[in-house]
Amino acid sequence: MNFYIQQILFYTGIPFLVGKYWAQRKRFVVMFHGISTRKYDHIPHSAQPHLSAADLEIILQWIKPRFDILSPYEFFNTEKPGILLTFDDGFSNNETNALPLLESFQAPAIFFITMQHVTHPRNWLPATQSQALSYWSETSEVENSFAVDLFDGMNVDQLLRCANHPLITIGSHTLSHPFLTQSDPFTLAFEINESKRLLESLIRRPVDFFAYPTGDYNWTVMDAVKNAGYHAAFAVDSLELGSPLFEISRIGLYQTNFAYLTLKLSGLHRAPLPFINF
Ligand SMILES: [Zn+2]
Repeated sequence: MNFYIQQILFYTGIPFLVGKYWAQRKRFVVMFHGISTRKYDHIPHSAQPHLSAADLEIILQWIKPRFDILSPYEFFNTEKPGILLTFDDGFSNNETNALPLLESFQAPAIFFITMQHVTHPRNWLPATQSQALSYWSETSEVENSFAVDLFDGMNVDQLLRCANHPLITIGSHTLSHPFLTQSDPFTLAFEINESKRLLESLIRRPVDFFAYPTGDYNWTVMDAVKNAGYHAAFAVDSLELGSPLFEISRIGLYQTNFAYLTLKLSGLHRAPLPFINF
C-alpha cells in the first residue's frame, strides 16, 4: 500500500482501533526472511534483505506489548490469540542476527530451512545467486565478507543450534526453492519428501511444518505436502482451496514505521486467522 495512504489511514485511528480489537481476539502469522547485520552501501538495497537486525528489533518491540507471541504448539493446540513468527529460507543470518533478538524478547518462531544451502552454505538460492556473483571478488575474501551476512545459508552446526533451541521449531522449505506448481511430479515429491527426511536425520526430531517457496502452491502441491506427512503448511496468500491447515496465510513485514505495522496487523490488510487445529 502507498506510504501516504498508510499515513492517512494511520492518523484516522481506524487501524489502531481495529487492531486493538483483533489483538484481543484473533491471530496472525508473520513472515520474515533474511535479517542482515547492516546495510551495505556498495550493494543495491534491492539485493539485500529488507530488514536488518535493528529493524527486526523495532518490529519485535512494536509487537510485544500488543500481541502475545505464540509458539507453534499454542498456535495449533490452543485458541489463544496472538502472532506466530516465521522466517523463510534458512539464511545464516537467522542464526547470527535473528536468534539473539528472539532470545531477548523470549519470542518463539519457526525457521523454514531450504536444504541446499544448509549442506552447502554458499550454494546460494536461485534468487540471490546472480546478485551475489555480480559483487563477488575473485581476489579478495575480505571484500566477500558481505556474502556471509546477506546470502549464505546456515551451516549444519547453526541448524543444530537452532533446532536444539527451546524457542525455535524447524520446518522445511524444500531442497532447492523451486516453483512447486511448475515442477514435474518426480521433482515435486522429491523436493517435499527428501527435504523432510534430510532435515529429520540431521536434527533428530520430527519436521511437521512446511512453507511453500514464494507461496507458490495448488491442489497437486498441497496433496504432495499432505502425503509427505507434514501436519500443516504455510502459504503467503491463501487460495482457500478447502484445506485451511495446508494453506495458512502469512503477512510479510518489510518496513518498520508504525503506520505500516499498525495497518498490516490491524485485520484490514488481511483478515485474522481462525483457530485451526490438527
Ligand atoms: Zn523462500
